[in-house]
This record gives sequence, structure tokens and C-alpha cells, in this order.
Amino acid sequence: MSYTKYLKEANLIDGAWVGADSGETIDVTNPATGELVGTVPNCGDAETGRAIDAAAAAFDGLAGMALIERVGLLWKMHDALMDNQKSLAELLTIEMGKPLAEAMGEIGIGAAYVRWFAEEVRRAKGEIVPAPTNGRRFLVTKHPIGVVGMITPWNFPSSMLARKIAPALAIGCSVVAKPATATPYSGLAWGALAEEVGFPKGAVNILTGSARKIGGTIMADARVRKVTFTGSTDVGKELIRQSADTVKKVSMELGGNAPFLVFDDADVDAAVQGAMVSKFRNSGQTCVCANRIYVQAGVYDEFVEKLKMATAAMKVGNGLEDGVEQGPLIDMDAVEKVEEFIEDAKAKGGKVVQGGARHGNGHSFFDPTIITEATQDMMFAKDEIFGPLAPVFRFEDEDDAIAWANDTDFGLASYAYTRDVGRIFKLNEKLQYGMIGINSGLITTVEAPFGGVKDSGLGKEGGSQGLEDYMDTKYTAVDF
Ligand code: NAP
Repeated sequence: MSYTKYLKEANLIDGAWVGADSGETIDVTNPATGELVGTVPNCGDAETGRAIDAAAAAFDGLAGMALIERVGLLWKMHDALMDNQKSLAELLTIEMGKPLAEAMGEIGIGAAYVRWFAEEVRRAKGEIVPAPTNGRRFLVTKHPIGVVGMITPWNFPSSMLARKIAPALAIGCSVVAKPATATPYSGLAWGALAEEVGFPKGAVNILTGSARKIGGTIMADARVRKVTFTGSTDVGKELIRQSADTVKKVSMELGGNAPFLVFDDADVDAAVQGAMVSKFRNSGQTCVCANRIYVQAGVYDEFVEKLKMATAAMKVGNGLEDGVEQGPLIDMDAVEKVEEFIEDAKAKGGKVVQGGARHGNGHSFFDPTIITEATQDMMFAKDEIFGPLAPVFRFEDEDDAIAWANDTDFGLASYAYTRDVGRIFKLNEKLQYGMIGINSGLITTVEAPFGGVKDSGLGKEGGSQGLEDYMDTKYTAVDF
């Protein structure tokens, strides 16, 4: 297996692969087998300070590089990702557990983000605003914001960084990144790729270790002008508080609790297919996973029956094995959290009609599970499940369904299956979410702005908005 090509057991600081000052390391294990994959440095404040020094020193060179040269490096990076897609995907599956086909997709979309921003940056235009009097010109120009701090989660350890590193490097920002401790190798691989294609030393720095120390140092340093975070809402809120002292720009991609509405007029087969993709992809561990499935009474039984058949046919196992559609959960805490949701629902009248227990493979494998007769007083009506559990709620009235869908602090993704054009526009207006999939369970694409409202975050990734977030807008008045 070729995954070792990008397995880096060191951190990239100022163009050198180094260990922690203390020599301490952290073990990384494969969730499908419990086996040790390797170790990574346990870095803290001092190493992070040096990484910020390096990024600050590299900034002028990177920002001043000819645009076409930076774009050329990104094209090389795209090609390196695609040429090594299989090795990078294997590494991802081994540290994170998702099926290899999904890992291949994740590397593919990461490469697509790199290509997208290499294209988009060539259109990062400013404007000349008409002046009210003669002899003046008002220029509005765009500039790279500076050093960018990046903190990413374990569930998409490669593509979450792609959405941040690609626009940052495209516009000329240098990077200090901290991937999740559970899945550091896919993050460190971005450092290896940046180095391989020729980005200057210090342009990309990647650290592993104490989240509080690395995160705290990034947040406290005034030279870091922007922090982009993907992860839980609680940590995101803490980072927003910490950003106040140095008035940093922040982008926050936080938790979700996606409603998935199926109306009586829906194509039920398509809705089941969409629910399978939206709910069970990555073992239910995506921020845009369907968390609450609301089905109108007229198609409820048919939907549940078809969802059961599709779920029962899923192959659970080690993501490296052929045909596996669901891998393990990230760890035993995640398993226990799913069990808590199930016990709570059962106590309140929910019925487990599929799965409901740990899978025979042991470790953190869990059976794909369906609970029917779900109600708004159950825990998952408010909280993010992050596991392979599909609660199905019954509704009669469209307005009730919309009100229930909005009855959460989150506002990331939402989905609806209907063929009524009027209802589609009503949903577009009424659903309080940053993203809406109509008759589609898979909405992530590099061309569109990904991001949430309410407790789900601030800012967008992808689309033209995903580049805007890495730029300052400057106004210059010229009298002549
Ligand atoms: P998490 O616990 O918030 O961790 C995310 C990252 O933050 C990790 O790198 C973590 O480091 C770091 N971190 C933890 N505490 C920190 C602190 N005090 N200061 C600075 N950094 C800190 O989230 P997770 O459990 O990994 O990820 C799951 C969550 O991410 C879910 O809520 C999911 O919905 C959300 N998510 C959102 C999106 C989106 O686009 N909106 C996408 C994917 C995931 P360690 O690993 O070292 O703890």
C-alpha cells in the first residue's frame, strides 16, 4: 500500500519538518482496527510562535509573487493531488475510517477546490467608483488579508483544509494550520504537497498537538489577521471571543442539525436515495447530515419501508475493503453518544425499526439505525447526532413542518423533496438555513458558497464568496 508516501510524522515549520521542542508525541490509531498508524509531535506555544514568525516572514514574498506564478503553483498542487489520489485516500481511510470510495471523493473535491480558486483568483477584481466632482478617482482594490490561522476537524481531514488553504494561497496569504489530533496526517499532507510543488518556505506551516496552546497562540498573535475554523459550535464561540482582542476576521463553519422534509407529492424513491446519501455518508458524521427526517403522513409508511430496505442492504466494515459503504465511528465516545440518543428516543415513544446496536465488528462500528415516530421532545430534535441514526418524524401540515425544521439554534443545511414549484419558493424564503437542497441530498460543490447562519457559523467557503473572505478591501481617493 502506498499511503506511507504522504505519512509525515513531523510538523512543517518554516520549511523544515520538525518534532516538538519537548520531544513528546501523540499516537494516532486506525478506528477500524485499533492499530497504531504512527505518531505526531505534541507541539504547543513556542512552536506555534515560530510558525507564525515564518508565515509573517513569508507573507510579502507570497503576496508579491506574480499572480500567474501563484496560479501555476496551484495548478501543480491540483495535479499532485490527483496523481496521488489513491495514496492520499488510503491515508485518510486509515486514520479516519471512512470508506475508500468516499476518501477518493474527498481528495477529488479538495483538488477541485484548488482548481476553483486558481481560476477564481484571476477574477478578484476591484472597481473604480464614479466621483461626484471632476478631477477625482475613487479606487476600490482587493488585497490579501495577511497570515491566516486555520483549525480543522477530523470528519473531513483533507477537504476542510482544502477549502481554506486553496483560497489563502491563491490570493497570497500565508498559512498556520492545525488539523484535528485524531486525523493529523491528511492535514500534514497539505504541507508536503505545498513543499513538493514549490511554495516558498514559511508559506504553509502545519502543527499538531495541544489545541488550547496552538489555538491560543494563533488567536493571541496580532500578526494573524484572520482565523478560519471548522468544528463544533462551542469551540467556535470560544474562538470568536478570543478574536476580539486582536480584532481578527473570523470564518466559522460550525455544527448543524439539518431537517430533511419529504412532502406527499415527492418522488419517494428519489427522497429515499437522497436521505441515504445525506444521512449515512461518512457514517452520519458530516455537518450537513440529515439529522431530522420529517415525512408527510401520506407517504410516511412507504418512505420508512424503502429507507429500511436501503439501510439493511448497507455493507458495514473496514473502509479499505471492497464494497464497504459505512466504516466505524471516530471513537467510542461517538458510539456512546448515538446510544444516548437512541435510549432517549425509546423512552419517549420512538420505535427502533432498523439497527439500534453496536455492530458485530467491534471497535467503534455501529449498525445503521432508523427510529420512527420521532417527536420534537426527543434529544435529536435539538442536538446534532453525528452518527448513523435516522429519526423519522411524521407531519400533516406544511407550516408545522417548516416551523419544526426551523426550531433549532443551528442553520447550516436543510433539504426538501417536493415537486410543487410554489412550495419550493416558499421553502427558499422560510427555511432559516445557509443552504437548501431541493430534491437533492448532496449539495456540496466548489462553485457554490458553503456555510451556515445562526449557531452554524459566519462566512462562506467555496464560490466567489470563499475567496472574498481572504481579502481586505481598500479604498484609495486620487485627486488629479
Ligand atoms: P471540535 O472538537 O470543535 O474540534 C475541531 C478542531 O478544533 C480540532 O482541530 C480541535 O483540536 C480544535 N480545538 C478543540 N478545542 C479547541 C480550543 N479550545 N481552541 C482551539 N482549537 C480547539 O470539533 P470536532 O468534534 O473535531 O468536529 C465535529 C464538529 O465539526 C461537528 O459539530 C460538525 O458539525 C462540525 N463541522 C462543521 C463543518 C461545517 O462546514 N460547518 C464541517 C465539518 C464539521 P483537537 O482535535 O486537538 O481537539
